[in-house]
Amino acid sequence: MKVFYSQVCLKHAPKYEIISGNLIDYLESPSRLIIINEHLQNLSSLSKFEFVLPSDYGLEPILSVHSKDYIEYLQTAYKEWVKIGCNKDGVLPEAFLHNNISSSSSIKSKVKVISPIAKAGLYCSDLSCCISEDTWESVYESAQVVISATLELQKIIRESSSSKDKNPFPGIFALCRPPGHHANSNLCAGYCFLNNVAISTKILIGENKKVVILDIDYHHGNGTQDIFYLNSNPLYISLHGSPDYPWFTGDESEKGEGEGEGFNINIPLSKETDDDEYLKVLKKVINKNIKPYNADYLIVSLGVDTYKDDPIGGFQITSEGFKRIGESIKSINLPTLFVMEGGYHLETIGINVGNILIGFTT
Ligand SMILES: [Zn+2]
Repeated sequence: MKVFYSQVCLKHAPKYEIISGNLIDYLESPSRLIIINEHLQNLSSLSKFEFVLPSDYGLEPILSVHSKDYIEYLQTAYKEWVKIGCNKDGVLPEAFLHNNISSSSSIKSKVKVISPIAKAGLYCSDLSCCISEDTWESVYESAQVVISATLELQKIIRESSSSKDKNPFPGIFALCRPPGHHANSNLCAGYCFLNNVAISTKILIGENKKVVILDIDYHHGNGTQDIFYLNSNPLYISLHGSPDYPWFTGDESEKGEGEGEGFNINIPLSKETDDDEYLKVLKKVINKNIKPYNADYLIVSLGVDTYKDDPIGGFQITSEGFKRIGESIKSINLPTLFVMEGGYHLETIGINVGNILIGFTT
């Protein structure tokens, strides 16, 4: 399996975040990727992981998902923030543009002239997305890792002379950070700045392919849902803990709208969900929803914060359970792109990601 990885993704390293009222060390740390990379390197003789550097495909694929003003904000936020004397540790919102502010729509039209402090509250919806000096470089690289992996998968399928029922289909892993599934087209949230999975999906849809996004991160992928809520392609499916972050989304009643109605499937689960229960739900959704959709590609929002001891997520999934999840994903029998999302238990993050990929490949 090819693993796309770049050390530039390690540069984004905010010092802290505020979670449940506590100021804590930033959990979405570079160590996460370093540990996963080391573990896969150690496994490489066993499972044939091949490490590939991404290429640079510019802003165009990113702008197919994100608004131009939002991208300009991410590129310039830190410099503007420091220029007016704010904390050099990074940009964090001081006030949010809440829906109940009656003048909210007119404020949006003044974005070019408002203070860098106000902009932080305009383009961010929580306190987990501190923009430090190197954030944009890593955010951009994270997207390039996913774009490169997507194009590689597309190339393998195009060059393959075999028919659609070839078994097994290849899988590729985009080992990237910051993650993406909480970001929508003009809002960062939940450690996410650019929606990597959405960018990949747009590339594949642009080639007239049908895509299923299976989001197995512990948290609901509210950004991905939001971006594709009105579309029948992709089919978006999320298994997530509830009630939990992002708190306001992820209900079963959110099914998509217009042409997209029926193509957004949320499966909220309790924190007590163990390996057997999770696998049962996953297998059901594979047979009932994923296979009948008849997609050309599968994109997995791969979070391992479903692990039983994860500090901010956590069903009761064990390391062995991740291997079974990988086997289930393999049974979908589609060309598959795994895109790294969450997972914060550093002692096991390498093993758990590795086990999903081993389950998929063996
Ligand atoms: Zn998560």
